[in-house]
Amino acid sequence: MTVRVEIGEKKEFSTATELTWRTASKMDFSSLLSSFIPSWDSVCLLLGFFSYLGIAGSILTAKLVPGAILADGTRLHYRCNGLLSLLLLVGLLVIGGWMGFVSFTAISDRGLELLSTTFIFSVIVTLILYVAGCKSNDRSASLKPHISGNIIDDWWFGIQLNPNFLGVDLKFFFVRAGMMGWLLINLSVLAKSIQDANLSQSMILYQLFCVIYIMDYFFYEEYMTSTWDIIAERLGFMLVFGDLVWIPFTFSIQGWWLLSNKVDLPTAAVVANCCVFVIGYLVFRGANKQKHDFKKNPKALIWGQPPKVIGGKLLVSGYWGIARHCNYLGDLLLALSFSLPCGISSPLPYFYPIYLLILLIWRERRDEARCAEKYKDVWAEYRRAVPWRILPYVY
Ligand code: NDP
Repeated sequence: MTVRVEIGEKKEFSTATELTWRTASKMDFSSLLSSFIPSWDSVCLLLGFFSYLGIAGSILTAKLVPGAILADGTRLHYRCNGLLSLLLLVGLLVIGGWMGFVSFTAISDRGLELLSTTFIFSVIVTLILYVAGCKSNDRSASLKPHISGNIIDDWWFGIQLNPNFLGVDLKFFFVRAGMMGWLLINLSVLAKSIQDANLSQSMILYQLFCVIYIMDYFFYEEYMTSTWDIIAERLGFMLVFGDLVWIPFTFSIQGWWLLSNKVDLPTAAVVANCCVFVIGYLVFRGANKQKHDFKKNPKALIWGQPPKVIGGKLLVSGYWGIARHCNYLGDLLLALSFSLPCGISSPLPYFYPIYLLILLIWRERRDEARCAEKYKDVWAEYRRAVPWRILPYVY
């Protein structure tokens, strides 16, 4: 009898616990799901941000940078005023925050909601681009529709090279929005950690590295006009999602993670982390700048010396003589430096460097194939002169 009661009680207890656990996890799951549901606040935030970018990009003073020459001999001109737009926006937000018109934590309070709102926006915009592209009779290289007939392919990769809205080049616009969005998310996460009184050394390091990286990106925004994405990719879901959702929301995972995790970094780790960042930055910016300068002026000095060139086309001096994609190495070191402040207790903050490693190895392979076809023997000679792809003596 006693045994039965005990078992009965135990059963009752375990059923009650199970019930509580189930209810709690159901509630957790349903509250998690509900935090993805877009509210009007997040729709207004997103549309407000895009409207600001459209207006600021069009009216603020800008450096007009000629884009690559297209198949029909025409070229676009890009208004490079991202840095000014960004500084003005941050200034306005700080003033608005101090005066009580905006909340510094408006973004970090709605992270998941903004993520789903931006995702839905990307789907809608790319469907509109798809329909507009299909209907277009334009024959110019920028707007000529490329229709394969496979709806998913055409929506994913896009139909037109350089679609615009009210004269604003959408591809350039979305990259800018993504990079600025990343910074705005970070700043809002920083505000949240200050509000919660848990600002840590790790958060400061992460924020500092990202601010320098993003400001540097906008300082050299004109370099973007000659990248593969801007020159060669059509504007479809892949690019729009990558710019608007992937960049801001996955590159900021470390900041979100640090909001709820505490890390104690020894001084040696902080110093090592700063070294990885500085070396990464010097290699990344140095390599990209050397190539950019070389393309503009093939006689421009590299590290104070006249450049060594193969076939009159390929630079073999400076970083381009160390590995064929030293700029990727720099970018990877930078990505690692953004995650190191989180310590090594969880793999989650390492999402960005791991993703970037896979992406850049794949991209390097594609670029290698493209260059081998374009430069033929000259590329083979370059490969012999510089045998390493990204990391000397390793890869
Ligand atoms: P690159 O800037 O490396 O450009 C590759 C092109 O440069 C080649 O196709 C070739 O083009 C030219 N080139 C290659 N070798 C030489 C040489 N020795 N001398 C002269 N020209 C050469 O490629 P990406 O556009 O992929 O990358 C630009 C930057 O963006 C990189 O720093 C990369 O790390 C970063 N990036 C970052 C990403 C992220 O998610 N964080 C994603 C992708 C890129 P040509 O035909 O013009 O000669």
